[in-house]
Amino acid sequence: MMNHKLTIALSKGRILDDTLPLLKAAGIEPLEDVRTSRKLIFPTNHENVQVVVIRATDVPTYVSHGAADMGISGKDVLMEYGDEDLYEPLDLQIATCRLMTAGMVGVPEPKGRLKVATKFVNIAKRYYAERGVQVDIIKLYGGMELAPIMNLADRIVDIVDTGNTLKANGLEPKEMIAPISSRLVVAKAAMKMKHATIQPLIERLAAAVEQRNG
Ligand code: AMP
Repeated sequence: MMNHKLTIALSKGRILDDTLPLLKAAGIEPLEDVRTSRKLIFPTNHENVQVVVIRATDVPTYVSHGAADMGISGKDVLMEYGDEDLYEPLDLQIATCRLMTAGMVGVPEPKGRLKVATKFVNIAKRYYAERGVQVDIIKLYGGMELAPIMNLADRIVDIVDTGNTLKANGLEPKEMIAPISSRLVVAKAAMKMKHATIQPLIERLAAAVEQRNG
């Protein structure tokens, strides 16, 4: 079926649990358990398809540079990466959540410059610039909820799913920036060079998404 070697970059962690059943439904199964193995590259039941399992934030990098032909990445990661060399042909409708601003319960946005702590620096800059709000962005790598408690920031920009993490720390969601789900991404170059291999796979994944929702 496949006439070109194809590499698919998968995001480690939460997304992976939802990705594997979808790949399986599309006919692609890694030959060992990618969740427990320490390996990074895995052959699949298709001789010409391999998957690599990497940090979610690295997926767009591998795909846009052509090191992987396609990948599965959260929309949050894609918005932050902001690459124009990537096609996003399919919304996989998995790992859904919301990208939101949040702050201490009941505390309104202060007048004047706003201190915003986040790992989504580009998204936060763009969001507040569009609203004409002057901000100082403070880059963090995790545990964003701590920032308003410790007076490091007035607001955070973070992923919200159930809202339990915010609530447990005395915070509340304030504004919705974007609904998030995982997307299939394909490098523009790969789409051209390997269209005959990639297109049928996109179609099988699209069918798997539909079946899953049906
Ligand atoms: P929750 O307490 O359910 O609102 O989950 C919030 C935390 O879980 C966030 O700080 C995120 O780090 C993480 N999280 C939840 N859903 C996702 C997702 N779909 N993608 C990435 N991170 C997520």
